[in-house]
Amino acid sequence: MNVQCISELTPDERRVLFKRSGGVTDAKDTAREIIGRVREEGDVALRDYAREFDGCEVGNIDITADAARASEELDADLRAHIETAAANIRAFHEAQVPDDWRQSFGGRELGRRFRPIKRVGVYAPGGTASYPSSALMGIIPAAVAGVEHIAVATPPAETLDPVTLAAIHIAGADAVYQVGGAQAVAALAYGTETVSSVEKITGPGNRFVTAAKADVRGDVDIDFLAGPSEILVLADSTANPAFVAADVVAQAEHDPNASVVAVTDSEALAESIAESIDAQASGREREDIIRETLSSDASGVFLARSISEAVLFAEEYAPEHLSIQADDDEALLERIDSAGSVFLGPYTPVAAGDYASGTNHVLPTNGGARVTGGLSVETFLRSSTVQRLDRESLSNIRDTITALATAEGLEAHAVSVERRFSEE
Ligand code: NAD
Repeated sequence: MNVQCISELTPDERRVLFKRSGGVTDAKDTAREIIGRVREEGDVALRDYAREFDGCEVGNIDITADAARASEELDADLRAHIETAAANIRAFHEAQVPDDWRQSFGGRELGRRFRPIKRVGVYAPGGTASYPSSALMGIIPAAVAGVEHIAVATPPAETLDPVTLAAIHIAGADAVYQVGGAQAVAALAYGTETVSSVEKITGPGNRFVTAAKADVRGDVDIDFLAGPSEILVLADSTANPAFVAADVVAQAEHDPNASVVAVTDSEALAESIAESIDAQASGREREDIIRETLSSDASGVFLARSISEAVLFAEEYAPEHLSIQADDDEALLERIDSAGSVFLGPYTPVAAGDYASGTNHVLPTNGGARVTGGLSVETFLRSSTVQRLDRESLSNIRDTITALATAEGLEAHAVSVERRFSEE
């Protein structure tokens, strides 16, 4: 990998780097066509697409019972690890459950109450890799929030991954369907003979899944766009280049459309990181995917003229995963607002959050961190406000209400307040 100076990037190179569409834009038309066919043909289309994209014949689309069986038959050791990860994820998400509250604001009793969405669909990806971890990450927050019906869609295969199925069951899914890609999103959004529709679709996926979520948004709610993975490592001269490179290579193995970036103010470190990335990529099981990611215009090792320039670069990039490997990491973090999930220090690899520390790994990509955080219990809750006024607190704002209502030409609004005082 070459090291590039941030200050020498042409406006075009900078635009491509920050745009990093992850291929989602190119997948829009395909996703729309798939959604249209699923709406018209239902299960028939799901079976056809399984043949075309997943190379398999699908018998039962509903595999809820298979997931339960896979969980019973799972190797005891692996099951224990899944349960450890699940317990850590559950504990962190239980700590997020907001309490209903009411407070007096000058006699006006106002508050918020939180209730779970009733029916949600969680996408558990599984095309080029299996993602039991994403099943845990998607389902557990929904279960903690108290969602009544959690439907899970995961790509079909000649032999379904038993670990993903077991994780789906352990996490607490109510219904499981073998359907992947844009067709899964369409089925969850609009329903088919077998798949019943939901009110919100969540979860990560490749560019087709992500483009489909963007397309159905409006007819059904979605969490946010969680597409091909990204990492930005912000490092100073004290960082261990092998640790930085290991995190970069790990993220690069997800998808050839992933984006991996390291930025530092140390020229020597930048060179060592670039060398270590090349060395660590060699011989990996998914080396082809890693190399494709590393060679994309949306990936690279970048040299900043100062740590401030590096911080500004990271903030503008708004990565899905931000790893800070620097002497005073907390001080650098203070200057960053836009990141999906932050990993501080040399012993906090992104893989810890991917699997088992407890935080959620379903995170906004493509700059989404500028406006939202990752999947959480709140993703599965809606809030209503509640209020009670007494005669005195209403009379305190009586003139303000009637003045504004009159200004808007909504006389009946003003009357609805005045009526309370004219019937004494
Ligand atoms: P996937 O389940 O997302 O996609 C597989 C499906 O894609 C297949 O079932 C198929 O239907 C569809 N597909 C494949 N080729 C197609 C084509 N040419 N046309 C139309 N549809 C096609 O699994 P994956 O591909 O392994 O990707 C998983 C993705 O999830 C990766 O990009 C990874 O980076 C991402 N991910 C993101 C996060 C996050 O939080 N942002 C977390 C975990 C994983």
